[in-house]
Amino acid sequence: MRIAERFSHISAPAIRAMVERAQQLEQRGVRVAHFEIGRPDFDTPEPIKAATKAALDRGEVHYGPIAGLPQLRAAVAKYMGERRNVSWDSDQVLITNGSIEALYLSLITVLEPGDEVLIPEPCWTPYPGIVHLLNAVPRLIPLDAGHGFRLDVAALQQAVTPHTKALMLNTPHNPTGAIIDQSTLAAVAELAQAHDLLVVCDEIYDQICFDGQLPATIAALPGMQERTALVCGFSKTFSMTGWRIGYVALPRPLLQPALLTHAHVMTSVNTFIQYGAIAALESGAPAKALMAAEYQKRRDEALHLLKEMPDVFVTPPGGSFFLFPRFMRFPDDRALAHRLLDEAHVATVPGSAFGPTGVGHLRLSVSCDISSIVEGLERVHRWLDRNA
Ligand code: PMP
Repeated sequence: MRIAERFSHISAPAIRAMVERAQQLEQRGVRVAHFEIGRPDFDTPEPIKAATKAALDRGEVHYGPIAGLPQLRAAVAKYMGERRNVSWDSDQVLITNGSIEALYLSLITVLEPGDEVLIPEPCWTPYPGIVHLLNAVPRLIPLDAGHGFRLDVAALQQAVTPHTKALMLNTPHNPTGAIIDQSTLAAVAELAQAHDLLVVCDEIYDQICFDGQLPATIAALPGMQERTALVCGFSKTFSMTGWRIGYVALPRPLLQPALLTHAHVMTSVNTFIQYGAIAALESGAPAKALMAAEYQKRRDEALHLLKEMPDVFVTPPGGSFFLFPRFMRFPDDRALAHRLLDEAHVATVPGSAFGPTGVGHLRLSVSCDISSIVEGLERVHRWLDRNA
């Protein structure tokens, strides 16, 4: 049997490879410092679990509506509107199997085979893969690493061709933690309108922001709500990665094709967990705030320790739980990540796994407690001193 050609463009996620290598070391009894795992380490808050258990006990175990429970869609529309200063009707919200499905659903609505999608890089590793799955072509546009991984709108503009149909944004950004500022969003909005592009905006880290920042959303700019698929979810904000639930707010013409795709591939999201998601939005605010405050402390500590290291350059992330330092003396980030794991027992992800502009960087995820961060980063510092 011949495997479809599209899979020749898609490789296994490099992040998982590092997780597995670290696990192998641990099985041999080595104590590994984990900075590779891109997920919150907190338990899901109790009110969310309680509402889910109650739903199970009530017998909410059957197929639900394809687009999601109406109560959840209404709660999401309200929550998104309050946070973003722009409002969606609840029938514009689809509940998805994690926000990753929402990215796929958004893109499939507009892409024909051979169409192009602009993706600023470094980027979260599945983005180009999703585009390839749709027989379309990812066009990777380097972020401006010299200026805090700023989006280079002129470079985006230059990359537009008659085949360009969509642009993917991620703010706060994985892997750099950068937040796209208002004036850059305005320039991107102008570009999207001039070339009739769909903007798929992934705001999964929007509740993990530092120093009181509240990222602006492109959907709130004039003329943009009708060309923006706004993707978000529960995984990061409420520490629910294993629950697999996310959502997207779509322009009306895209709703039916997205819903058809979801119906034909997923049917619907697990019914009882949707009750947990409602509880997250209605009563998860205190737990959310506690976790966000903890991430701020971790980022501050990690930033402080990284800045003390020799020949390490790091841009303070505005949000997310990632730092993306550059190790000036080690241009080969893959070799560096492997050596740090083997020789210092510190697991990270090589920056080049996220795109060519990530070369020389490592992604550190601060999804562990402060004492583990201190211990892990002290090991890195000592290793750098030994390898001066
Ligand atoms: N977008 C980004 C930028 C992410 O980092 C992740 C998770 N690592 C996701 C989307 C997917 O999240 P979910 O669990 O909601 O599918």
